[in-house]
Amino acid sequence: MKTKRRTFLKTGALAGAFIPFYTVAPNINSFSGKTSEFNEPARILPVCRETDVIVCGGGPAGIAAAISSARMGAKTTLIEMYGCLGGVWTSGLLSNIIDFENKSGIMRELVDRLEKSNAQYSAKVYDAELMKFTLDQMCLESLVDVHLHTRVTAAYRNSRNKLEHIVTESFSGREAWKAKVFIDATGNGDLATHTGCKFELGHPETGKVQPMSLMAILVGLDEKKLVSNGLMAGKGGTTEDSKRKFYAEIKRGGVEASYTMPTLFGIRPGMIAMMANHQYGVSAVNATQITKATIEARLEVNKIIDGLRSLGGMWSEVRIAATAGQIGIREGRRIHGIYTLTGNDLIKGARFDDAVCRATFTVDVHSLEKNAGGGYGSHGIKAQPYDIPLRSLIAKDVNGLMMAGRCISGDFFAHASYRVTGNAVAMGEAAGMVAAKAALNNLLPQDINYKSIFK
Ligand SMILES: Cc1cc2nc3c(=O)[nH]c(=O)nc-3n(C[C@H](O)[C@H](O)[C@H](O)COP(=O)(O)OP(=O)(O)OC[C@H]3O[C@@H](n4cnc5c(N)ncnc54)[C@H](O)[C@@H]3O)c2cc1C
Repeated sequence: MKTKRRTFLKTGALAGAFIPFYTVAPNINSFSGKTSEFNEPARILPVCRETDVIVCGGGPAGIAAAISSARMGAKTTLIEMYGCLGGVWTSGLLSNIIDFENKSGIMRELVDRLEKSNAQYSAKVYDAELMKFTLDQMCLESLVDVHLHTRVTAAYRNSRNKLEHIVTESFSGREAWKAKVFIDATGNGDLATHTGCKFELGHPETGKVQPMSLMAILVGLDEKKLVSNGLMAGKGGTTEDSKRKFYAEIKRGGVEASYTMPTLFGIRPGMIAMMANHQYGVSAVNATQITKATIEARLEVNKIIDGLRSLGGMWSEVRIAATAGQIGIREGRRIHGIYTLTGNDLIKGARFDDAVCRATFTVDVHSLEKNAGGGYGSHGIKAQPYDIPLRSLIAKDVNGLMMAGRCISGDFFAHASYRVTGNAVAMGEAAGMVAAKAALNNLLPQDINYKSIFK
């Protein structure tokens, strides 16, 4: 996609003082702890793109948002901080898609493509390399303007409280971008927070967050033996019983896993994904804590595998082929939207006129602290299939901004259900369609007649 015009945006800590029309959000990094302050000087930046829709974050929600926006005819840019698309699917090596069965559109298309390209058992459990490749191709075919290795670091509103420019850091340095509508699909709600949106984080009473887990890909195992010993179900699957047995086996190898329901997903013969640890009390918006958690998690995963290998027999050749580049973050900021989806909505099985999809997954809260059992549970909430409304995808505090994926507007308990990737894709697809229509008609997302889009 061609740059329309090269303009300049002045940024920096004092940007608000020099350019009265731009509203500067508070520094979102205040969590990191400070020893002193540095007053970053303002500077002039090139505006490298002026486009219709910009999607920040190329995870399950972001790829769907970008593809659907581009397919609606909007010039669409997708900005992702890592070197591949897919988010937790790829950088996180997740390997398992939940709540996709009742989804049509891009989710169905992706599952079909994975199956055709030899996802061994089912597209539900997929090969992360195949996922990276498939997402690249889908974005290219849909004419999405993809920018990898590019991180959103600031955002600026105009005098009408509308998000107008964002700033990124990349191999190209610091650059500004302009669009008519933006979608925050960063998982942690980075863009919305840079813009000045309010958000919630953690349990409503304690502020505690779900633990993080570092996924690993294992080689050197014979799946048939794992299945016959009850450590994995057939066809790459897993059950509560197989998780308990795997926990006991890890213990037999000399390690008490921090996650008491460790899981093995068979991707293809000789290639198994493992989720076996919990890092408790780690904030998704504190890089120091995430660094420590990642190093501790990698140590635990290595100890688990060394312990298993020491048992000999079916474990004698097991090796870690890879641990994820990004530790799995279950919970980040939940950005305030026009509507906040709640645990009560899940209990009622809420229906909304502006539904973007129907979610069917349970409330899945992993232990919030080490001495709380180490497994997962629903905190007594029995969810019925429920709708996710478009209003939860539209920012309340800033105009021209939508959210998709785990950073949409919901409470702690609703988030524990809708966060899974089948729903993230459906949310992204809907957000992309609405954003495109708004941008092409110079309207705000909340002014779009969604009934003409969601059929
Ligand atoms: C350990 C673990 C196990 C899980 N198990 C399952 C499961 O089995 N099945 C399932 O369906 N779901 C599972 N989930 C839930 C699910 O993975 C997430 O909720 C899902 O990833 C949400 O998708 P997303 O697109 O909102 O976020 P993400 O996948 O987190 O994607 C966000 C993307 O934005 C990028 N990004 C972030 N900040 C910036 C920035 N400032 N600038 C540019 N790019 C940025 C990231 O690199 C990433 O690519 C699990 C989650 C975890 C952590």
